[in-house]
Amino acid sequence: MALTFFEKIYKIELPIPFPMKTTNVFFIDDSPKTLIDTGIKTDASFEMLKKELGGLGFSIPSIERILITHGHIDHYGQAQKISSLSGAPIYIHPKEYGRIRSVIHSFGPLKSILLRNGVPEGLVNEAIRFMESAQKMADSLDEAFFLEDGETIPFASMIWKTIHCPGHSPGLICFYWPEKKTLFTGDHLLKEITPNPVLYVPDSKSPLRYPGLKEYLSSLKKIEGLDVDLLLPGHGEEVHDPKGLIRKIFAHHLERMTHILSLLSQGEKTSYEITLDLFPGVPPFEIFLGISEAVGHLEILKEEGRIRVREKQGKDYYSLVS
Ligand SMILES: [Zn+2]
Ligand SMILES: [Zn+2]
Repeated sequence: MALTFFEKIYKIELPIPFPMKTTNVFFIDDSPKTLIDTGIKTDASFEMLKKELGGLGFSIPSIERILITHGHIDHYGQAQKISSLSGAPIYIHPKEYGRIRSVIHSFGPLKSILLRNGVPEGLVNEAIRFMESAQKMADSLDEAFFLEDGETIPFASMIWKTIHCPGHSPGLICFYWPEKKTLFTGDHLLKEITPNPVLYVPDSKSPLRYPGLKEYLSSLKKIEGLDVDLLLPGHGEEVHDPKGLIRKIFAHHLERMTHILSLLSQGEKTSYEITLDLFPGVPPFEIFLGISEAVGHLEILKEEGRIRVREKQGKDYYSLVS
């Protein structure tokens, strides 16, 4: 059964074949009738959305507008399908639109990034195979309208605002309803899990830098300064204490930073070795997320001048600056 907020927002949980089990999508019963995020493109996900909307007296063709928080398959996977069936336009940040279009071509650069970070080749191939097969659970977007930071999202009876929160993903946007002090966070803030700054795969022109965590933390500051009482995240339960959650996440990253420094005091390490220490027994399909987390911290420590990196036989080794 869909949970209701403010009599017009319905939270619907759609199944995903990943550890988090479900993605939250939100149906807004106002004009235009709006869906925030869509879940992945599988039969189970589509049928569940149809059934839940039906239970509320609506249907897929009732949807008049689709807002996407970010370009991860569990959030946009069936957007194109729903748009084709309903005629609803899709709105997304331009950076995510570009990423979705280029994701198939980014597996080559991704492979070299993982190898450079010390992941053994067999494991890299396994991780890439998993990501390629996951990509089948999403359709690329034919046409989309762009939402930039600060843009308004009008409804008949309310006005929302777009807040660009890069970090977890470069073009992640949150949707803010000031009147109710409510924020739809996508994966920027989750109740039980610390959101991961997922490694950006730069195109061949960009230098090899990983700004994800640094951007994530400054996006977190942005939300800390916002007048908000209720968070509606893309996975799990709603959050009634946004400031408390944000403090917890800052503390968690600080702790992790200290831990990584103490690991490096034992000698130089690749980010793969650090990942194995942070997440013992990490399965191949999560190796990319683990590496993302490790390099996020390493990049900040490097910028602060506390560690250095040098390349040896095609791999990056990090060590303390003494
Ligand atoms: Zn995500
Ligand atoms: Zn997600």
